[in-house]
Amino acid sequence: MNRKDIMLQRQLQTRMVQTGKAPVYEGGSPVNPPVVRASTVVFDNVAQQRDLRARRSGERVFTYGARGNPTGFALEDAVSELEGAYRTRLFPTGLAAIAMTLLSYLKPGDHLLMSDAVYEPARKLAESFLAPYRIRCTFFAADGSDVEGKIEPATRMIYAECPGSLVYEMCDLPRLADIAHRHDALLVCDNTWGSGCQYRPLALGADVSVMAATKYLSGHSDVMMGTVATTEAAWPALSARSDAFGMTVSPDDAYLVLRGIRSLAARLAMHEQHALRVAGYLQSCPDVRAVFCPALPEHPGHDIWKRDCTGTNGLLSFEFQPQVTREAADQWIDSLELFGLGASWGGYESLVTPADLPSARSVTDWSGHGCIVRLHIGLESPDDLIADLGQAFDAISRD
Ligand SMILES: *Cc1c(COP(=O)(O)O)cnc(C)c1O
Repeated sequence: MNRKDIMLQRQLQTRMVQTGKAPVYEGGSPVNPPVVRASTVVFDNVAQQRDLRARRSGERVFTYGARGNPTGFALEDAVSELEGAYRTRLFPTGLAAIAMTLLSYLKPGDHLLMSDAVYEPARKLAESFLAPYRIRCTFFAADGSDVEGKIEPATRMIYAECPGSLVYEMCDLPRLADIAHRHDALLVCDNTWGSGCQYRPLALGADVSVMAATKYLSGHSDVMMGTVATTEAAWPALSARSDAFGMTVSPDDAYLVLRGIRSLAARLAMHEQHALRVAGYLQSCPDVRAVFCPALPEHPGHDIWKRDCTGTNGLLSFEFQPQVTREAADQWIDSLELFGLGASWGGYESLVTPADLPSARSVTDWSGHGCIVRLHIGLESPDDLIADLGQAFDAISRD
């Protein structure tokens, strides 16, 4: 059995620790790969330079800083392990990864089917940038139920996000993969929620999986990065287009994300445990109408979550009762002491942010709902977090 086969037999948690190691030096080697800062790469002779340049579009060779660096290569390998991918490219942000994915596979005249539940800037990109380039976009219901009917002869990509942003709608990814492939289209999935641990789109039939490594992979709210992991068939188009656009990341940032990945499984397990405690508390609060988290049996799509996910994370959202006004909901948020008010998530700390569902969805009408708030439950003691949430409910002024 060769090394690759042995690695594949091992559990994902083991592979995450084993992958992307430092080179061996005489006298021993450090645990972690070095940060290799480089723009120019120098060669021994012209023949070697020509040879490496000829091979670089297909193979991973180190020829110039814009084509990636060894620290980034180690991170790419770690992400490929997480995603079960052929290979991975790194991008300066999660949004850049999404943009490059759309630009790599779509051309003028093509039609894109995008989930109603996508990260909002992805929707804006499709509407404001792709449309003038004659790449049309239609949104499909977050649960994927209307996809078949919305396929057109020109549809070349189905772009899903599962669970969806803000309220975590589940879709049946293997079914979407089947529809996409029957119509000569690619299935892309934003996998930031699952982070390659709780959900693995490529194993469920997707061709391309995109993640904002800014979130759980980095895990410490101090670095921006995006990743795109693909099957072997989908790789050449992404790789060529990313090279054409000069997409790369700094080795220092790659080092930080690789370091974050080493503790990813442990952090996610703790985020999950704390979030489920808080979810149970919120469900018992009279001001709360609904709690959104796919691990809850009441959640629509819970059965798909059970089938396709291995756990949940620190994200949960909830809806206030309709009589709680916008002002009171804002007052509740402002009263929290342990939750930072901010976008993004996936760091070790708890966060809160209002979620404007009516403006984030166009297929489903969310206008009749109470105010919705998104929480990211961090690694703090859940008892302290619950006490903080409780004092904020007490602080709401009531008529
Ligand atoms: C945050 C996020 C992104 C974008 O990542 P950035 O690194 O902030 O650009 C993309 N998709 C999802 C689902 C996200 O939550």
